[in-house]
Amino acid sequence: MTTIIDGKAFADRLCDRLAGEVAVLKAEHDLEPGIAVVLVGDDPASNVYVTNKVRRCHQLGIASKELRLPTTTTQDELLARIDVLNADPSVHGILVQLPLPAQIDEHAVIDAIDPAKDVDGFHVQNVGALSLGRDGLVPCTPLGASMLLEDHLGDLSGLHAVIIGRSNIVGKPMAALLLRKHCTVTVAHSRTRDLPDLCRQADILVAAVGRPHFVQGDWVKAGATVIDVGINRIETDGKRRLVGDVDFDAASRHAGAITPVPGGVGPMTIACLMFNTVAAARRARGL
Ligand code: NDP
Repeated sequence: MTTIIDGKAFADRLCDRLAGEVAVLKAEHDLEPGIAVVLVGDDPASNVYVTNKVRRCHQLGIASKELRLPTTTTQDELLARIDVLNADPSVHGILVQLPLPAQIDEHAVIDAIDPAKDVDGFHVQNVGALSLGRDGLVPCTPLGASMLLEDHLGDLSGLHAVIIGRSNIVGKPMAALLLRKHCTVTVAHSRTRDLPDLCRQADILVAAVGRPHFVQGDWVKAGATVIDVGINRIETDGKRRLVGDVDFDAASRHAGAITPVPGGVGPMTIACLMFNTVAAARRARGL
């Protein structure tokens, strides 16, 4: 029997727990965790992500500021806004929704965010902390995926994890996190040879490729745990739907456990943004 890992249920439980923590922080420490979400331009997908993030904040009692800036915003204007947020003690987390318009250098913007408020975990200081095994803020999607893995498997020590994808926001931090959990980690990418054979050696197979149904059923070792990070919009029979990077039906016949899309890793990303915001607020107060 294959277990379907219910990321939505796990994310709801995590958010319930965080809502309780936020209530205690307010009552006992007069501390209201706060996040500022910055959106430049009018990309429809980014708009939906920002709206969903702000809605979750409201549910948990986290204060949220939304800064919606025009597509024509210059880099200097955005950096000036970030300076203000860095100095604002009511803001514990700053999230700049990516991608940014072409005139703005993404790296310059991420570098400008106070690392202690970098709830996306993209600042070079947090990336360094993760790879050195030191305290810092960890990128939300891999953090959520690793929570699902530990919830399902318990101790990950000694397991062989194959991660397909080496992006800065998913593949690389996922590798660093699983290494920290004592997995043997292999990172695959577009130049990797014999990918299906490599995948068949995985106890944990993480797909973060951005190609619908890329991972085939016979790439999955019997009993392996499959984490599908992909979110791809496809159209079949005139209907639009979301699918992952894994051929779910075929992979389910081999896997011991698998995350669905939607309802797997996706809901964990926002839940972990809330987790990071509460953690940043606690640290700011020395709690
Ligand atoms: P990127 O496009 O940044 O990275 C994709 C990676 O896949 C690259 O490392 C690339 O290799 C590798 N790749 C591409 N083609 C192949 C191939 N044929 N064989 C092996 N590897 C290949 O994507 P992201 O990491 O940003 O996102 C990956 C997926 O996860 C997307 O579907 C995205 O929508 C989803 N996502 C989901 C989130 C969530 O909340 N659940 C959050 C973030 C992303 P190379 O480096 O060599 O080019």
